[in-house]
Amino acid sequence: MQRNHGVSLTTHKHIFGPVLSRRLGLSLGIDLIPFKTCSYNCVYCECGSSPDLTIIRQEFFPVEQVISEVRDVLASRPHLDSITFAGSGEPTLSRSLGQVITFIKREYPEYTLSVLTNGSLMTDQGVRDELTPADRVIPTLTTASQETFERIHHPHSSLSIEAIITGMVQFRKMYAGALWLEVFVIPGLNTSAAELAGLKWAIERIDPDRVQLNTLDRPPAEDWVQAASDAELERVSAVLGRSGVEIVGRDHPGCRAEKTKTNVSDLIQATLYRRPSTLEDLVRTTSLSTGELADILGVLEEKGTITSQKGTRGIFYSICQKNSINGIPE
Ligand code: SF4
Repeated sequence: MQRNHGVSLTTHKHIFGPVLSRRLGLSLGIDLIPFKTCSYNCVYCECGSSPDLTIIRQEFFPVEQVISEVRDVLASRPHLDSITFAGSGEPTLSRSLGQVITFIKREYPEYTLSVLTNGSLMTDQGVRDELTPADRVIPTLTTASQETFERIHHPHSSLSIEAIITGMVQFRKMYAGALWLEVFVIPGLNTSAAELAGLKWAIERIDPDRVQLNTLDRPPAEDWVQAASDAELERVSAVLGRSGVEIVGRDHPGCRAEKTKTNVSDLIQATLYRRPSTLEDLVRTTSLSTGELADILGVLEEKGTITSQKGTRGIFYSICQKNSINGIPE
């Protein structure tokens, strides 16, 4: 049965979705970062590859602009499972993050606020302080070894995995909310006995409330990266041998966004800009029929606006020119 969530997909500059997240349910995204502005250049990144890395925090967009969009979208108090700081780069690079989190917690306390982060700036006390009012912080960890860290993330040259793990440990000590650690599993890179022993040691130090094993779900930046099989994820879970380890589901059935009445083509482009998606993904997030969506995707592909690529779960659609569509920050 289709649920009425009372919210439509939006084409604001900084707010996207709601999208159906495998981990968070119906999730409204807030993106404070220009496309692919990040301290890492991960081999599995779904935003493609970029050699321009930064660890400098900035106010990329006026905070008043973001807050005005938040007021607009939340005015009708839509049903959402999460408001999530995420998008196409690393959210903690934004100096506006703390202000926007504090604003939403004060004005809309009924919502659960989540932050997806690569964790690299958790070495900074200021970042840790800004994250504290959020309900859920979800950093990523793939390894405890500097060599493997560099192979997987191609990080900014100043970053050390030991310092990042220590930052997560310090954050855990001061944070009363839910700390969910995402462990991204890449067969052949972080699945050896030595790698898993290092991860187990780091996880024990960080002591998160949950460990979520995740793997490739969309076309990666580098073609050779493979998804872990269910059996491999089960094996990793058993080796980590800790309660609170879960394998992130590949699907989230039975939950759909309200059928939108606004410009569907723009909305689909706004979604694909940040998140390559299959036809089935778009059916769930928009509630349009397969036929309606197939027609729109066909037109967009013929115009050269979007492109398609075979991935682990089928054909993935994504935007060809990342800075050329309506309503998206450049
Ligand atoms: S996957 Fe995330 S952390 Fe890695 S490069 Fe892409 S945006 Fe940055």
